[in-house]
Amino acid sequence: MKSNLAARLLRIIFGCYFIVTLVVTCAQLAAEYRHTQQRLSEEIGAMKHTFGPGITGALWRFNGEVLASIVTGVKALPIVIGVKVEDEQGKLMRAIGTVDDAQGRRMEAGPNGELVPAAAPALLFDHIFSHSFPAVYVDEAGERHQVGRWTIYSSQQVVVRQVAYGFFLILVNSVIKTLALWFIFLYVIKRTLGQPLRQMSEFVGQLNIDNIGNRHFVLKDKGEHELHQLTDKLNQMADTLRKSVAENAALYAELKQMNHTLESQVAERTRELQRVASTDMLTGLHNRRKLDEVLDHEVERVQRYGGGLAVILLDIDHFKQTNDNYGHPAGDRVLAAVAAILRTGARSIDSVGRWGGEEFMVICPQTELDGARALADMLRLRIGAADFPEVGRKTCSFGVAALGPDETPSSLVARADAALYRAKQAGRNAVAHDTVA
Ligand code: GH3
Ligand code: MG
Ligand code: MG
Repeated sequence: MKSNLAARLLRIIFGCYFIVTLVVTCAQLAAEYRHTQQRLSEEIGAMKHTFGPGITGALWRFNGEVLASIVTGVKALPIVIGVKVEDEQGKLMRAIGTVDDAQGRRMEAGPNGELVPAAAPALLFDHIFSHSFPAVYVDEAGERHQVGRWTIYSSQQVVVRQVAYGFFLILVNSVIKTLALWFIFLYVIKRTLGQPLRQMSEFVGQLNIDNIGNRHFVLKDKGEHELHQLTDKLNQMADTLRKSVAENAALYAELKQMNHTLESQVAERTRELQRVASTDMLTGLHNRRKLDEVLDHEVERVQRYGGGLAVILLDIDHFKQTNDNYGHPAGDRVLAAVAAILRTGARSIDSVGRWGGEEFMVICPQTELDGARALADMLRLRIGAADFPEVGRKTCSFGVAALGPDETPSSLVARADAALYRAKQAGRNAVAHDTVA
């Protein structure tokens, strides 16, 4: 997976968690700091009662040794960084640690109590704060004598030191909590969101139009939440897709079947049209158009592959009379009967057609002049021997020609026509032929 949803969610959640924790921790630290500072201040204030009488007594009696030992004892307390004792004129009697002088400058007390300037304070949390107590001696008569003043110094650093441990604990606590929560969240989000989403995306990826299958997505998660709704919608979508794929397939099959039927109908119709276009309606033979086509084709074949080709042109003798004597329909029946004799008499490789009016043509492939003449004569005899109903006997005149070298179809037909003319001239019911000049 390119980007991990669980990791992204975690980044957002823990980004927010970190900011909130930071703000809360800072507020907690600030409160803790203030509280500790206040507590230290109170503790220092309480020292008045602990050390006040000793210091006052020592000052009253000018007992430097006792004063030194008390002051050393006070300084030993962890919250105290310095102690300063002055007499009632403000003269320094005793100092230890970090104190300030009369001008408020930060000073460091030497081993003999002399004050030298202290190192510059740190930038943060190094402010010195102090608590000053008057040393008032009360004698046996109950009279009060101001004998001096003593001051205890503490610093923000002391406060920080006290707060530091608490801060450390809070930090460790936060880190442990954050790490533990991170792993728990990661596991939970991956299980409840990442895994189902990955499975869903796999499911959708497998929905192939060509092989849609029957699979249903099952969400392995308890309860009833958005992912379950998404699962339902996903399965509905897959069902709709399946249905539409099935419908499409059925439609496609139907369309294919229709197309097939239509194609065969068109082919049949085309064949029929071709047949009609090349057939003479009265006799059922080839028409003039078809004869021309066959002749062109046969001449081309001879010119390409060699072999013989002959045509027979025949014309019914005195047909006009037949029409005149028996009527046009009777003439038509004679035409049909002559056509039937030609069809049965000609060989299967020959093409027989109506050339026009009462003229017919037989195209004889692979045939030399003699063969065509013989065929023409046989046809002449058959027609002459036939008994035409109503009309009785009829004869035909024949013109035969064989294809000469490099001869065109029209020239061949013209020569056959010329031969036919000669047959008519010769008295009809005859076969004449034309040889190449
Ligand atoms: P010839 O022996 O010289 O051929 O004499 P003919 O009378 O046969 O020749 P002609 O050319 O003078 O007459 C041909 C006749 O054929 C004229 C025409 O009416 C007839 N005819 C042409 N086509 C048809 C047809 O389809 N049906 C009928 N019944 N007669 C037709
Ligand atoms: Mg004629
Ligand atoms: Mg005629």
